[in-house]
Amino acid sequence: MALPLDLPAPAPKLWMPKRVLVTKSALGWEHGQRMVARMRGLGLAVSELNGDRLTGLNNDDPRRAYIDAKNTLAVVVAPPGKMRLQPIPPSADWRVDLAEGCPAHCQYCYLAGSLGGPPVTRAYANLPDILGNLRAYLGKGNVTSKAGERQAEGTTFEASCYTDPLGIEHLTGSLSEFIRFFGAWEEAVQLRFTTKFDDVGPLLGLPHRRRTRVRFSVNAAPLARKFEGGTAPLPARLDAMRRMALAGYPVGLTIAPIMPMEGWEEAYGALLDDVAARLAPVPGLDLSVELITHRFTPGSKEVLTGWYPASKLEMDEEQRARKMTKFRSVKYVYLPAQMKRMKVWFEDAVPRALPGARILYWT
Ligand code: SF4
Repeated sequence: MALPLDLPAPAPKLWMPKRVLVTKSALGWEHGQRMVARMRGLGLAVSELNGDRLTGLNNDDPRRAYIDAKNTLAVVVAPPGKMRLQPIPPSADWRVDLAEGCPAHCQYCYLAGSLGGPPVTRAYANLPDILGNLRAYLGKGNVTSKAGERQAEGTTFEASCYTDPLGIEHLTGSLSEFIRFFGAWEEAVQLRFTTKFDDVGPLLGLPHRRRTRVRFSVNAAPLARKFEGGTAPLPARLDAMRRMALAGYPVGLTIAPIMPMEGWEEAYGALLDDVAARLAPVPGLDLSVELITHRFTPGSKEVLTGWYPASKLEMDEEQRARKMTKFRSVKYVYLPAQMKRMKVWFEDAVPRALPGARILYWT
């Protein structure tokens, strides 16, 4: 049966890395070979390494190292530590990685300070190991068990903590493998991922069985234009969300990072109205909303300042509240009165614009 899709979307702008490396061990995996074939099919030159070490990535000039790394995709085997999954509340029960790194250039990137070394995108070849490992986590985790309404989702796995899986899907095919795997799973489980990209065409016809929730990471239009380089334009992301919803996927909005810029109520109000208009024709819509305010750490500020020296992103400790994370590190969030104003506004505006949506959390 033909999917009830609306107008064909304009061709998305796809990332083509200038340098592709594949390690010797990665080539030992069928999925690694498939990724290499895919990239050669797209006309990319792939360098096969003699061993498993990625070399030549450092540069004394941090900006140069950043540019080179952001133009590099490496096909590697995920290290053994990736098989010990970490809990990732409030988004999901567990974090699972199909890759690490992202080709976009968001000036507030939440990966800054979490990835070691230059931000090369690494795609994992050993998908059967990564997927086979998930069964051990079934029924464990505390997001779904604590939050009553989310129990129906079963055990939830988040695939976008360290990458944007859709931004590299045309090169890897890994996200499609994940979606098929979760669609075939008998027990209650959910795959979740967030994206700022729009190339959803290859995902629309997959046998997902509503086991994958795709959330589109969005922001007020002036902030998206100013700070989110290399991502799909906001209207294209919202169109992609509509197409995924029409194809039966549960969808979500991740509104992040929320910033109280001048005129923020109007700008976020316009965003919510735009979403409501685009999702209005979707029958049986299942929409969640996550609300995340901007924050930074001393480490992420240092890395981001090196990557984007001319950025106008406000990261002024004097204007922020200092908080300890549960890992005993420091983060800077908005002042309590400002946080409260924004929280009250969003908790009123979201249900008014999107009456059927579930707000999962505010942070
Ligand atoms: Fe970072 Fe996400 Fe932007 Fe990629 S899309 S640069 S991971 S914030």
